[in-house]
Amino acid sequence: MSTPTNSPKTCPCGGASFATCCGPFIAGDALPPTAEALMRSRYTAYTQRNDTYLRATWHASTRPVDAIVDPDEHLRWLGLEIKSALRLRQRKAELPDHPECDTVEFVARFKVGGCAHRLHETSRFLREPDPDLGGTPRWFYLDGTFPK
Ligand SMILES: [Zn+2]
Repeated sequence: MSTPTNSPKTCPCGGASFATCCGPFIAGDALPPTAEALMRSRYTAYTQRNDTYLRATWHASTRPVDAIVDPDEHLRWLGLEIKSALRLRQRKAELPDHPECDTVEFVARFKVGGCAHRLHETSRFLREPDPDLGGTPRWFYLDGTFPK
């Protein structure tokens, strides 16, 4: 994967700085402490077409066999908005008190073929020991639904 020469100082996910936001997670220097942090870093990985990171953070039971990022697709990510905070109370009521799973609702905007689109998804995440990290627990993306 090529490194853009004019990489922005701000993080693609909306954080203040890539170096202190998603950068350490994507570089493998740190593990996202929360499902939301993982969700943000996966969005950033999509903007960087980082198939390796997307694959490593996708739960083995739902991970696609084929490449996650299509190298021929001319898709440009425009921004990320996390909605979960608004729904926190509702989620607490819906979900049993289970710290090993969480959901994050977000809207990601992207442009393809000159048209802007919105991806509104509620993603499910699981926290499990990662065999690739010697059994260290980490958050994985499981799947997503599309609220109306
Ligand atoms: Zn970030």
